Amino acid sequence: MKTWLLALQQQLSRQIRENKLPHALLFSGVDGAGQEEIAHWLINVLLCQNLKEDASQDLTQGITQGITQEKDESLSQVSQEAASDKPFTFQPCGDCKTCKLFANNSYPDHLTIVNDKNTIGVDAIRKLSQFFEKTAHIGIAKTALVNHADTMTVSAANALLKTLEEPTSQSFIMLTTHSSDVLLATIISRCQKFEIRPPVGKKLLAEYKKQGDDAFVNLSHLSELTDEATAVAFTAFRDKVKGYLCAHQHRAELLAILVEHRDGFRWLEKIVVNLMRNHWGWPTAGHQNEQESVINKQQLWQVYNLVQAANIKLKTLVQINRQFLSEKLLADISVVVKQKN
Ligand SMILES: [Zn+2]
Repeated sequence: MKTWLLALQQQLSRQIRENKLPHALLFSGVDGAGQEEIAHWLINVLLCQNLKEDASQDLTQGITQGITQEKDESLSQVSQEAASDKPFTFQPCGDCKTCKLFANNSYPDHLTIVNDKNTIGVDAIRKLSQFFEKTAHIGIAKTALVNHADTMTVSAANALLKTLEEPTSQSFIMLTTHSSDVLLATIISRCQKFEIRPPVGKKLLAEYKKQGDDAFVNLSHLSELTDEATAVAFTAFRDKVKGYLCAHQHRAELLAILVEHRDGFRWLEKIVVNLMRNHWGWPTAGHQNEQESVINKQQLWQVYNLVQAANIKLKTLVQINRQFLSEKLLADISVVVKQKN
């Protein structure tokens, strides 16, 4: 578990003990912040038949770091109480029947909704509502997890609202997202919202025991830092983007990544920003120090605007044709870079 999630685990453990865990919770944060991890832990804690209690380190200082919380009155209370009451976290035993079934993805009183391709449709949410209407098989709690809740279609979100408004007892719905700004306000208002904010810069590098002194490492690098395969994929993608900008190479590979890889558009924006940093002599977040002199500042700025506009479309329009958007973006970029200097 990521160290910055500990404060949140402590707070949620306390809420469970005091019977103050709400029926709907929303965990948001940048990709890799740990929202799915914390939701998974919490569900397992709610289902486990033989919970353990870990006395954890005192985070009185850090309890407000790492998480900020909206629509909550208990956080300041928690920090005050933490001084007198020892912080602890619940941990699932991992050994009981429900833990084993849950680990196997076969626990009957839990449902995870996954987005097939790019969206969560109304059928998936109806399945969730029906799931909650039935009585529990094992009879402890019923839980559901909706990952990437921002990808719900409007009708799916409206269907979910009904379920959120009429909670059945001992039922818990967790939503995770990396862009809560896209979620309907009516959904957000029915959830207790936890915004996970991991540390940045050197602290972030230290968390992953990475060498370096780069103060510009930020949260958008999380998935690259936490996952070696992603780091490799990112570097390969970056080289191809440079090849495309400078020599119009690798169009097909870039297109495939933009269409199929969920990080493609975000990576592209990051790469272009880093190229601009180089051009303007700003410090760079990566280690690209070679001069990129093939396209000029003005072209780079135009490319940046195109990429940013595409990213906004991707974020705000739920049912967008990603293939078309990617093809158009590459075509528009190619028009810009082919202009004579
Ligand atoms: Zn257990």
